[in-house]
Amino acid sequence: MIYLDFAATTKPSKDVLDIFVEVNMRFWANPDSLHGAGIKAEAVLEQARKNILEKFNAKSQYNLIFTSGATESNKIIIKNFVNSNKKHIISSNIEHPSVREPLFALQKEGFEVEFLPVNKDGTVCVEQIKNAVKNDTALVSIMHVNNEIGSVNNVFEIAKAVKEKNKNSLFHSDFSQSVGKLNTSLDGSQIDFISFSGHKIECVKGIGAIIYRRNISLPHIRLGTANPAVAAALAKALKIAVKKQKENYEKVLSLQNVILKDLRNISEIRINSPENNSPFILNFSVPKFKAETLIHALSEKEIYVSSVSACSSKKNNESFVVKAITNDSLRAKSSIRVSLSTSLTKDDLGIFVSELKAVVERIK
Ligand code: PMP
Repeated sequence: MIYLDFAATTKPSKDVLDIFVEVNMRFWANPDSLHGAGIKAEAVLEQARKNILEKFNAKSQYNLIFTSGATESNKIIIKNFVNSNKKHIISSNIEHPSVREPLFALQKEGFEVEFLPVNKDGTVCVEQIKNAVKNDTALVSIMHVNNEIGSVNNVFEIAKAVKEKNKNSLFHSDFSQSVGKLNTSLDGSQIDFISFSGHKIECVKGIGAIIYRRNISLPHIRLGTANPAVAAALAKALKIAVKKQKENYEKVLSLQNVILKDLRNISEIRINSPENNSPFILNFSVPKFKAETLIHALSEKEIYVSSVSACSSKKNNESFVVKAITNDSLRAKSSIRVSLSTSLTKDDLGIFVSELKAVVERIK
């Protein structure tokens, strides 16, 4: 199998699974219980929280709540920080469905939601955001790395610009595709909230977080009995990812360059990712084919790629992200995402490209 869908999810690492098992065996009491076993379980949870905040250089100014993942984190933030006095929200037109859909729901309830268009490179212009911020702007939500094309927003600059215009507007960013891969240090940043999931960085599924500025009071969200084992697993996964971040980035960048060079030699292919993308995500189209056709043909060879975000891939066959940057429906219907990790070799990628060429030739 050649798995090229690491942006959808990753396999949990052995180190992460070891911690998960160990904490389940030793600290399985309810962290809310008042007895000694509960106190020990709570201490594991608190240590994980501290360790995670530390990896974002966020220990002194931010708090963290554990959630089941980025989808839940995004929903909590979007639903809880708008109100009848502050009805204006700014976002982009290529956010992940877990941001986009709750925003559509708020729009239906009468909130004024502006989805700013992205440039051809899939980023939102900082000045455009600044101009859009008004007195009643409750929230600005702009993702760090886009999950389909890998475009990278300068969310640190965006946060600064938002606060310059209105210090009371809150700034949220979905960090799901940047955690452990790009610079995500919150030290000195003006970002109010970030959200992410562990399973994108070789953690077990079902755990994510919201990291939020201490001066913000998050409405009391009762998420039930906490799970110290997944919290400790997340702390471990993040520790490993951050430790190897530079090395991993360089390796994945060189893998991406290998594929890019080969793909550029196939005349039917159009590269959708911008030049300065996150190297972990590469998107292209073969406009003659529907994405599903290529995905299934490659899947028969045990080569696994994807099209639109896993969350919407079963519902819709046109990528709204690729449509937004190309304004081309054919490209949006035929877009393929290849997402990389250091576990791949140049040989794997060579096989992928030659199978892709063969499929394109065969169904041409
Ligand atoms: N945001 C982005 C940018 C993502 O890539 C994903 C995962 N596809 C999510 C949010 C949702 O993550 P999860 O499915 O783990 O809740």
